[in-house]
Amino acid sequence: MTKLFLYDTETREKKRVSPHDGHTIRMYTCGPTIYDFAHIGNFRTYVVEDILRRTLQFFGFSVQQAMNLTDIDDKTIRGAIAKNIALKDYVEPYRKAFFEDLEKLSIQPVEFYPAATDYIPDMIAIIEKLIEKGCAYRGDQGSVYFSIRAFPSYGRLSHLLSSELKLNASGSNEADEYDKDNASDFVLWKQYDPARDGKIFWESPFGPGRPGWHIECSAMAIKLLGPSIDIHCGGVDNMFPHHENEIAQSECFSGCKFSHHWVHVEHLLVDHKKMSKSLGNFYTLRDLLAKGYTGPEVRYLLLSTHYRTQLNFTFAGLDAAKASLQRIEDFILRLRSIRSSALSSHLIPEARLNFQKALADDINISAALAVLFDLIREANSLIDQQKIGSIEAEDLLQLLASWNQVLAVLPLHAGLESIPKPLLALLEQRESARKSKNWPLSDSLRDEILSHGYLIEDTPSGARLKRKS
Ligand code: AMP
Ligand code: ZN
Repeated sequence: MTKLFLYDTETREKKRVSPHDGHTIRMYTCGPTIYDFAHIGNFRTYVVEDILRRTLQFFGFSVQQAMNLTDIDDKTIRGAIAKNIALKDYVEPYRKAFFEDLEKLSIQPVEFYPAATDYIPDMIAIIEKLIEKGCAYRGDQGSVYFSIRAFPSYGRLSHLLSSELKLNASGSNEADEYDKDNASDFVLWKQYDPARDGKIFWESPFGPGRPGWHIECSAMAIKLLGPSIDIHCGGVDNMFPHHENEIAQSECFSGCKFSHHWVHVEHLLVDHKKMSKSLGNFYTLRDLLAKGYTGPEVRYLLLSTHYRTQLNFTFAGLDAAKASLQRIEDFILRLRSIRSSALSSHLIPEARLNFQKALADDINISAALAVLFDLIREANSLIDQQKIGSIEAEDLLQLLASWNQVLAVLPLHAGLESIPKPLLALLEQRESARKSKNWPLSDSLRDEILSHGYLIEDTPSGARLKRKS
């Protein structure tokens, strides 16, 4: 098997993927803040991370993956206070909706979905150690901050200039700016503020309060996957300051390299602006399903552009995704209807190798899909010439099934649904009416079949029925 290479944001080069313990890839992916429904921009990142997970498995690795659910955050707390309900009760419907959406998009469940609220003691333990080591300090107003002076390689992931880093490391413009020694230090523990937090706080050795967002991910990653993981992923907006801060606090805490590989997914745009809640230019998966699109169509659209390239969302693009899936389905139906025998065309070995090579090159999905569509074109032309027999058709279906372990979007079930026997009998009668050139009878049989919701497709290998979509 070809070796798998992935671009690493930190070293800015394609690096070979190999698990540090010799067999299991440990991967952490920053998950959603569950204060509302996720939008399809968020799902672009999760679909790509799913393609990455499935590619790792395709290349023979076992994977242990954690995706956090951010349930402690200004937005979740604000929502719970506004509704006057417990934080857990506020986030629950969005947590549930998130898992429903993952399933609709055929995103494989991962091993761990930690929620921040379940890991507060782990966060506190890390903060205590950081204070002990002199990497963190308490501000005058009670919050605890990480001191970026304690971590000289701060900025090595995002490659920003030190002046740019200073502007924004804390990721906030909050009033606590004056509480810190240095404007770029970021918060580890936020002092409880009744006006902001209502009754939501946790006790800690630093007083009541709540963890900062960055420490949530470090604590959960270290607890579930160990201090040194293989791959850490997220959208490009997570790179700075979130991932930079995760590196600093994790490495000061553990003394070892936090992640060997960093993968960042480019944004989904609308009219060339990032799709986001704050701009109001977003669609949820539910919005698109309500318009009649399907989970596979949305998945296909989100996966079909290379993950390091921005993708501009349009309905024309979604319609094109639908048409591509239809083309694949027609091909699958055609393969299933082949009954004849013919010599093998030898299409398969080259396509198999090229698909694998495309994935191995930083998941070059466009090249992988080009291999798929070239195969369809060449095979269709051979089928027209009756040069593909039933054994090769079955091998082609198996090849598609193996690619679907990664793509998880091919309509492999097409043609397997059982067509009612009376309709098959009508089809046979129509075939013999056509053979004897009895066109009126043939047409009326076609209309009867149509009235039962099925279309007749005439192919070189015979007629077949297909449910009307
Ligand atoms: P959030 O809930 O805002 O923390 O975002 C969850 C994940 O979705 C993060 O990995 C973000 O980087 C990612 N994300 C947010 N907006 C987009 C977008 N428009 N396109 C792709 N990924 C996004
Ligand atoms: Zn994170």
